[in-house]
Amino acid sequence: MSEKFSATLRIGDLNDYIAPSQGCVIKTENPGKVKTTPKEVQNEPVKISLKDCLACSGCITSAETLMLEKQSLEEFLSNLSEGKAVIVSLSPQSRASLAVHYGLSSLQVLTKLTTFFKSLGVKAVFDTSSSRDLTLIESCNEFITRYEQRNITNEEKSKSPLPMISSACPGWICYAEKTLGSYILPYISSVKSPQQIIGAAIKNHICQKLCLRAEEIYHVTVMPCYDKKLEAARDDFMFQVDSESETIAEVDSVLTTGEVLDLMQSKSVDFTTLDGSPVDKLLSNVDEEGHLYSVRGSSGGYADTIFCHAAKILFGEEIEGPLQFKTIRNSDFQEVTLEVEGKTVLKFAQCYGFRNLRNIVTKIKTGKCDYHFLEIMACPSGCLNGGGQIKPKPGQSAKDLIHLLENAYSENVLVADPYENPLIKSLYDEWLELPGSEKAKRHLHTVYHPVVKSISSQLANW
Ligand code: SF4
Repeated sequence: MSEKFSATLRIGDLNDYIAPSQGCVIKTENPGKVKTTPKEVQNEPVKISLKDCLACSGCITSAETLMLEKQSLEEFLSNLSEGKAVIVSLSPQSRASLAVHYGLSSLQVLTKLTTFFKSLGVKAVFDTSSSRDLTLIESCNEFITRYEQRNITNEEKSKSPLPMISSACPGWICYAEKTLGSYILPYISSVKSPQQIIGAAIKNHICQKLCLRAEEIYHVTVMPCYDKKLEAARDDFMFQVDSESETIAEVDSVLTTGEVLDLMQSKSVDFTTLDGSPVDKLLSNVDEEGHLYSVRGSSGGYADTIFCHAAKILFGEEIEGPLQFKTIRNSDFQEVTLEVEGKTVLKFAQCYGFRNLRNIVTKIKTGKCDYHFLEIMACPSGCLNGGGQIKPKPGQSAKDLIHLLENAYSENVLVADPYENPLIKSLYDEWLELPGSEKAKRHLHTVYHPVVKSISSQLANW
């Protein structure tokens, strides 16, 4: 192992891949031992050698370690005590993890967390299901454009080919930039993740409704994985309010679900008996009757939503979900197709876990991939299984926990079309104008960068 990997290096289930955030920590000063928490190997040291290295170059570097230190509970608490206007945005996957842990509903978790965070001095607690709707609408728009250009052979088209690949998983983006490089990047959707989009919305627009300047806000998200911390720290997600001002981040800090649990435990909070507070509706998917609403799909519903939208816009087919995905290799690789007059016109897949995603990127590289869209997530089973989620209880299998999380995630949550979301309509009316507009591109889209491989990773590829 190289000296540059000064802190932690992430690995998961060595038999599959394994992605970022699956909970392993390797101390470089003692490279033969692995301290790990996943399923089969709980509390057991595992030996790894260089041959186990996937050469994904996804290791956390010294510089990244410094960035991560700025994304801790201590930083969060110190910003609260300094009197900053702290805003928390909670992911639905984290909500589900806390719901299962405490035996509560997702709505109860949201209202009780609102009470808890506000008791610490937080100004507002939002729900990233709302920004995910914005992500999905921009992604639908991008897909339609790419699909309509698919038969044009010119330079413009080569910048945005098919299959379009989802971009919300930083574990996948990290792997693509550091390992796959320039050939894969044009396939990746330019739309930012829900985490970054809620950050952009809060600091560019919602702040005015709260009578705050963007610089006065310290924005924290609660997410299911550590990779979201690296995502928040990307230079691409820093901006200036005007040419005179300092650069600020869309998301100042990311706490994992497990870190929020630690925080509550450190403050001896009895979460189950805590009273709930009204949800902050400015950026939360809660209707007038107080019900949560969201798209289907525990990893974001990208394939589902874009497929239905494309079927309607491109082929006039109204599809009532849920879609029937067909399992191809394993439960983490599933596809759905639309046929019109005997011809397959849409072919989408959900592809989770690194074993599956390495296979699919090989097909793209060799020109053998006939999918139009790929929802790629680094974690096996997707975001509910992120490395920052609360771990299984003693005696509980990872599979049983996922099952409970899936139920908690969707139970009592109304399925709703992002295009019908009144919050999103008002964001377009008041701020962004239209999907794919210049303003939407400026605030909601990004670019990716191939990362030159280090000598050490090239050696490991031998
Ligand atoms: S699949 Fe989800 S939880 Fe796992 S690394 Fe990607 S974004 Fe994080």
